[in-house]
Amino acid sequence: MKSDPSVPVPRTGGVLCRALLPLALLTGACAHPATPLTPATDGEQSQDPAEGSTGGGESTGDPLDDTAALPPQVGEHYAFVNARLPGGESIVLEVDGGLVVSVSSEPPADLAVIDLEGKTVVPGFIDSHVHLAFQYGVDDVGQGAQRLMSGGVVGAVDLAAPLEALAGFDGEQWLAAGPMITAELGYPTQGWGANGYGMEVSGPQAATDAVNMIADLGAKLIKVPVDQGPALSDDELLAIVTRAHERGLLVAAHALGDVEAARAAAVGADILAHTPVEPLSDATIEAWRGRAVISTLRAFGSRETSIENLRQLHAADATVLYGTDLGNLRIEGIDAGELLLLAQAGLTPPQIIASGTSAAASLWGMPGLGALEPGKAATLLVLAGDPLEDPTWLAEPVAVYVDGELMPPPANTPGGFGP
Ligand SMILES: [Zn+2]
Repeated sequence: MKSDPSVPVPRTGGVLCRALLPLALLTGACAHPATPLTPATDGEQSQDPAEGSTGGGESTGDPLDDTAALPPQVGEHYAFVNARLPGGESIVLEVDGGLVVSVSSEPPADLAVIDLEGKTVVPGFIDSHVHLAFQYGVDDVGQGAQRLMSGGVVGAVDLAAPLEALAGFDGEQWLAAGPMITAELGYPTQGWGANGYGMEVSGPQAATDAVNMIADLGAKLIKVPVDQGPALSDDELLAIVTRAHERGLLVAAHALGDVEAARAAAVGADILAHTPVEPLSDATIEAWRGRAVISTLRAFGSRETSIENLRQLHAADATVLYGTDLGNLRIEGIDAGELLLLAQAGLTPPQIIASGTSAAASLWGMPGLGALEPGKAATLLVLAGDPLEDPTWLAEPVAVYVDGELMPPPANTPGGFGP
């Protein structure tokens, strides 16, 4: 693979190293910027998998050096002190039993503390488009989740998995769509999704029955392809959306073209599983006003067309969700390249943070995530820099806490992070 000049590269050597952190996680160093990411394993029909790479330039810093100062776990009831919020406000986060129990400016007396002097904290990240079952195996979804948590992704939405994989998702922070409901011989059953990643139906009743079966097994959303191959009819799509909504499930549509995205909106789909890659008409942008779109800009090519589509959807008040399409790309953590592409699409740093935290938690119904406030999980990223100044700090957590517990370092990372 080559480096893609359309992927923005950060300004300095140190920041470039951050942009390459996913590579560092996989190769064990941040000193080989010209080495491409591990190629995708044909997870989904990326427009051009060769575009899924950042790279180029030299790097000198080693951000993982920052990690040695963090103290060990201090029990179940403790406080983070000198924790900075993005923008610089210093807070004390009291944690008990895995929950944030107070946020204040003064450390409580007689409480063990973890001093985060000089560090910034944000809520743990949510990746709204992954393929855990595909990437790690139908029986190893939990192992995949563990690996993601070490990289700062503390919740995710799996957008195509066989029925038997559904039991591996907790339905709270790790959500799954189960198999895509598709037409006979429809996407993805003739390609990468041949082994149960698609469920073929014919007719509205069969479509309705499929929703019920998938929902009964614990799926928290339904995914449908709306494409140009053998495709579901409008009646079938309407039956799916109607029953999904009756069951309280959102519907995500795989729709990459203008006609397809318009059709998905017309039948009532809630979420675009990818930013479409063909130019969207004004009418289609308007049809998606106030709905939601998952970015996946790097997995599906970082072309200007996709970036412009996302810019316009964002301007039309569509909720933008951070998503990588893990399984198509292999990035076990937060992808600096995707964050930079979100910035290119016009999201401000607070909006980029929201796309992986508050906006995602709200849309998917993950009440414990998305914010650091009393009653929420003590699930947070400790960052060496302020993501309002440079969002790629998000991709390089020096520590990750989930429910108050320090996660082990990412696999293959020498020295690791934390104590
Ligand atoms: Zn996907």
